[in-house]
Amino acid sequence: MLDYHVHLWPHAERAEAAGQRLDRLARYCELAAERGVAEIAVTEHLFRFTAARSLVDHVRAEDGDPPAQASIDAYFAHHTSADLDAYVEALLAAKQAGLPLVLGLEVDHYRGHMDEVAELLAGYPFDVLLGSVHWIGGWMFDVLEDPVQAGEWDHRGVESAWRSYTEALEELASSRTCDVLAHPDLAKVTGRRPDPGLRSELEERMALAAAASGMAAELSSAGWRKPAGEQYPSASLLGRFAAQGVALTTASDTHGPDHLGERSAELAVLAEAAGYRSLRAFSARQGREVSLRQITPAHRPAPDRAPSADGAPSDDDQLADGAPSDDDPPGQCRAEVQS
Ligand SMILES: [Zn+2]
Ligand SMILES: [Zn+2]
Repeated sequence: MLDYHVHLWPHAERAEAAGQRLDRLARYCELAAERGVAEIAVTEHLFRFTAARSLVDHVRAEDGDPPAQASIDAYFAHHTSADLDAYVEALLAAKQAGLPLVLGLEVDHYRGHMDEVAELLAGYPFDVLLGSVHWIGGWMFDVLEDPVQAGEWDHRGVESAWRSYTEALEELASSRTCDVLAHPDLAKVTGRRPDPGLRSELEERMALAAAASGMAAELSSAGWRKPAGEQYPSASLLGRFAAQGVALTTASDTHGPDHLGERSAELAVLAEAAGYRSLRAFSARQGREVSLRQITPAHRPAPDRAPSADGAPSDDDQLADGAPSDDDPPGQCRAEVQS
């Protein structure tokens, strides 16, 4: 499988020089070989890097509420410390050493400022850019360990939060700044979901936004580690992506070695049930299809729950991305490569 969403640093850790993380990259590759992961996209958060300070300031300026402002300021004071050039150089060196990595970044949605993001990143040799909605204005709705941010769910309400999330996702997609929509229905992170009618309407908008932008969508096991209790996206949204011809990546969103490639086999089952026969890999921000059958471990456990038929294509022959590709699968991880 592919793990196209991997971080260098746990959130609790302050980011140190990226070069010091070559040991972690080598460890990731050893684990990838053990766990049947053919290629890893290292996708650190853009807000980890000092080059993003002016962008982060836009988020800080979004919220005038004193408790929230202090919470946002503390978050970025902790997180925004690494050097983007050093990160890129470390990843390029690892690629050159033969590690099966692609150079990525998890780019957040900066409301009204995606043109500045595109400008900042234009000169870098990224293979893939993930686009993520983590904030609604200045509200960090998925930072559940912060009572100020988590408490905001009670003030705003589920319906309003989901509507605002969908609007942010639509703006992110229409900016065409990124290649892959990460954890597409992250609004469910707390486990709270709007009524089925509204959820269906918003999921359809998310699928249409992805299709119109040409972005791929990410199928991620991270939601199983959150109160959401299921993969991102839901089976119904995955079905809508398939119906709209949106390409797919798979991901763990791990922030350390523990979760690398986690539940890949279950993701493959879900993807196939939705009609997918291939995943999209990236190089120099150009996509290519790799056959799911070629890169899926032979023994697959059954998923926790059967994929919902809601919105999913029922015709087994309906492929989200055309016929199976003849492209070679990405090279297997060579764990003996030195960092
Ligand atoms: Zn994310
Ligand atoms: Zn992430």
